[in-house]
Amino acid sequence: MRDNASVKQAVCDAVERHRERIIGLGEAIMDEPELGFKEVKTAARVKSVFAEAGLPMEDGLALTGIRAVLDSGRPGPTIALMGEMDALIVPDHPRCDALTGAAHACGHNAQIAGLMGAALGLTDAGITDELAGRVVFIAVPAEEYVEIDYRLRLVREGRTTFLAGKPELLQLGVFDDVDMAVMIHSGSMDSMDGEAGVSASSNGFLAKTVCFRGKAAHAGVAPEQGVNALNAASLALQAIHAQRETFRDHDCVRVHPIITRGGDIVNIVPAEVRMETYVRARTAEAMLDAAAKVDRSLKGAAMACGCTVEINTVPGYLPLLNDPHLAALFKDHAEQLFGAGTYREFPHSGGSTDAGDLSQLMPVLHPVMTGAAGTIHGKDWHIADPGAGYLAPAKALAMMAVDLLHNNATMARRVQADSRPRLSKSQYLDQQQALFRTEIWEAGA
Ligand SMILES: [Zn+2]
Repeated sequence: MRDNASVKQAVCDAVERHRERIIGLGEAIMDEPELGFKEVKTAARVKSVFAEAGLPMEDGLALTGIRAVLDSGRPGPTIALMGEMDALIVPDHPRCDALTGAAHACGHNAQIAGLMGAALGLTDAGITDELAGRVVFIAVPAEEYVEIDYRLRLVREGRTTFLAGKPELLQLGVFDDVDMAVMIHSGSMDSMDGEAGVSASSNGFLAKTVCFRGKAAHAGVAPEQGVNALNAASLALQAIHAQRETFRDHDCVRVHPIITRGGDIVNIVPAEVRMETYVRARTAEAMLDAAAKVDRSLKGAAMACGCTVEINTVPGYLPLLNDPHLAALFKDHAEQLFGAGTYREFPHSGGSTDAGDLSQLMPVLHPVMTGAAGTIHGKDWHIADPGAGYLAPAKALAMMAVDLLHNNATMARRVQADSRPRLSKSQYLDQQQALFRTEIWEAGA
């Protein structure tokens, strides 16, 4: 049996042999961006690569997700390598979909190219019988938490249970036999310190859609006969701001409401005003505490103006906890690919990902790797260096699989032994389901 370094070299060489294919896939997906739970063309590309690699697969998971398995035939842990398929809505991106405004402004096209590259590299290197356990490749739908109304409709129609891909795959049982999961997110060379790195943690969030209902009246002739829903919303924003001094710095709370409908016509007292907000925090406790203060603010504002307020709360993502063993392995891979001293430990991130949900149940790694340029979620985001953006993630994922499963999967077993999941699957599902709530506070009630 070859030593660990030779096996890793073999998979990296195999990735290089598929260089043009991997870059071509990343660029083709960039030019065919699709929104979450609608990634039909992207899924077709993924399936053709898995088929070409000779991997058995299941498709249609959470509508568009695909899972393929590389089985060493020897007992051992199962590790998941993941890539996200969905785009954002950035209608002024030069490579957006003209009809939907979807654009890959977060580099998920590179995640899929990287995942496909890892699948091609690991299967083509002829090293499977030197591993123990299994590698599952999962192309995950819907990481971006957008089109909330559309996704709530999917839930009402019984087509999904949650509003994002990984929570949905979790509840479907797609991760039931998975012991740990790894993915790599693209980072922008314009803003990134170093070439690759890991944040120890990131924020979780829940989302709220809010509707204030008042009474229409002529805004000039008889405003006293109306009930102004916009005044209630505006007071609610102030009341939410007034809570900020109660948020502790280390909880990293972010509440960022917007008004999505402010009234219909200027000479009528607004009778219906809508808002949306995320409530983000470092821990579930801090998130729930801040969410209760937001609810209190909304109801207080409704009361002051004599409005009714409807508050719909939906689960977002749980805080991300990156596994330290997996991060240490990734550091080696990153420095092998980019040179010594290029790896960074980033501070806690105020952003959120549904990899956070997984990380409460099993060891997870969600690092960032360079290769993109421009502003994340902005119109100028693209993969500027195909070697770093598409091939390096493929090699890093493939090397991760080797490090975990080579040598009778000693490393994967160590990760498992040291992991302390915060939640069981049933606790997770109960907790997230309980967040779905519609509350109606009526004036005078
Ligand atoms: Zn992203």
